Amino acid sequence: MIVFDLCCTAGDHRFEAWFASSDSFADQQARGLIACPVCGDAEVRKAVMAPRVGAKSNQQVAPPVPAKPASEIATADPTPEQVRKLLAHIAGKQAEMLPQSRWVGRDFADAARAMHEGRAPEDLIHGQASPDEARALHDDGIAAMPLLVPFVPPEATN
Ligand SMILES: [Zn+2]
Repeated sequence: MIVFDLCCTAGDHRFEAWFASSDSFADQQARGLIACPVCGDAEVRKAVMAPRVGAKSNQQVAPPVPAKPASEIATADPTPEQVRKLLAHIAGKQAEMLPQSRWVGRDFADAARAMHEGRAPEDLIHGQASPDEARALHDDGIAAMPLLVPFVPPEATN
C-alpha cells in the first residue's frame, strides 16, 4: 500500500488516501473515484509530498481516509461512504450550476418544450414538473434531469 497526500481543486483541501499502487491511484483519479472528503470535489491531485518516516510520527491536519482496496471500489456495490461522497459531489456540482440556471417554476415543461422546438432561445433552466410532464418530456426526447439534491424553490424561501 502507498499513501498519497492529495489536494482538491475546488477548495484546496488536503487529505490523504491509500492505494494499492501508484497506477491504482492514477486509474481511480482518471475515473473520478477519488473525492475530497471535505467538499466532495473529484478534481483531486497529488499534494506536494513530505517524506514520511512512520504513520504515527507525521503531522497531518486531516484525519486519514480508511484504506480501500481498488478491487472493492471497482466491483462491489458502493459503500455508504462512497454514496455519501458521491452525493456531496453532486450537491457541489448542483450548487455550481444553479446560479447560472434560470428558475422557471411550474413553467418548466412548457419552457423546456419551447426551447426544444426552437420557439425559445436555448437556456439553462430549472423548475418544477409533475411526473406526467416529466414523462412526456422524456417521451419527446427532451433532455431534463431531476435535481438529485433537495432544492427549495425561491418562492418558498420568501
Ligand atoms: Zn475539497
